[in-house]
Amino acid sequence: MEVRVSGVRKEFDRFPALHDVSLDINSGELIALLGPSGSGKTTLLRLIAGLETPTDGKVFFGDEDASLKSVQERNVGFVFQHYALFRHMTVIDNVGFGLKVRPGANRPSKEEIRRRSSELLDFVQLSGLEKRYPAQLSGGQRQRVALARAMAIEPRVLLLDEPFGALDAKVRKELRRWLREIHDKTQHTTVFVTHDQDEALELADRVVVMSQGKIEQVGTPDEVYDRPNSPFVYSFIGESSSLDVSIQSGTIHLGDKALDLKSEQADGKGVLYFRPHDVELLGGSEARISGVVIASRRVGATRRVELEIDGTESRVEIEIPADHPAKVGSPLAFLPKHWRVFGKSA
Ligand code: ATP
Repeated sequence: MEVRVSGVRKEFDRFPALHDVSLDINSGELIALLGPSGSGKTTLLRLIAGLETPTDGKVFFGDEDASLKSVQERNVGFVFQHYALFRHMTVIDNVGFGLKVRPGANRPSKEEIRRRSSELLDFVQLSGLEKRYPAQLSGGQRQRVALARAMAIEPRVLLLDEPFGALDAKVRKELRRWLREIHDKTQHTTVFVTHDQDEALELADRVVVMSQGKIEQVGTPDEVYDRPNSPFVYSFIGESSSLDVSIQSGTIHLGDKALDLKSEQADGKGVLYFRPHDVELLGGSEARISGVVIASRRVGATRRVELEIDGTESRVEIEIPADHPAKVGSPLAFLPKHWRVFGKSA
């Protein structure tokens, strides 16, 4: 275990930015903190860094309680969204800065700093730009310098706060792949903040989904995409469709109709969630979710269909093969292949 966040609460002027957050980060993992604006991602990152102190709870680095340790003592490397490079320093001096300001005994010689810095610049594919100033670099290049600078101190943990947030979509995509490659080579324990689900799913070993100061789910990209454990995760990651249902003796009911879907949940009202693309079209309407097509449009290789569910005013969207006629006004019936029901209060 590299970092353990244990029961952390953080209040700013009585405003709870994080409630009882616990998270274990393994050595060498690439972790994404994913959530909407204000969900507490940056606060959690800053707590791990030592830039904030918890109101309650603790942060451990290995077995050691790091809660009272400074940023320097924790030995973390940072990259922020807005490149915080020193404008008056060349690229190579920027990379070597963290080593140069180390206290006496730990400070490598000038030659050693230069050697390590140019090695790192080579590593982030910026050889040849050593003598440039930040203003003479593109946004993507600056972020690569920032990453080289963060790695120069050989941090125990690398913390990246929306590192590609200020870049355009194309550069962002390139840097994403590049970061993954760099991580695979260095195996630095890395935590990065993003509100972009694609970025989190593509890059991370595990995704921490946050909402309103709480962790909603922690899992591999496949787990959080295929098995969301809350309505929030269903809606925030990928697309979801939902319908009001009830559970009666272990069977899901839509209105009075018993569907061919079993649940172990207690009887009561609930909401059925599924992915619009993850459905099977079926003949007949018995035990199916059946309705009338009210909108049908082709989207690339598939067709998006909106159905008004029989006997209700509910509407639901599903995705079916593009060659299906699905004419407006025609009946259609389906069942989701994977789904979850959450209690109404969830
Ligand atoms: P974003 O994606 O917009 O950066 P976030 O998920 O990183 O959002 P945080 O920056 O961690 O969210 O903020 C969580 C909550 O705590 C927000 O409501 C924010 O307004 C509040 N907050 C954060 N820092 C402070 C502070 N220094 N003082 C007061 N409130 C703060």
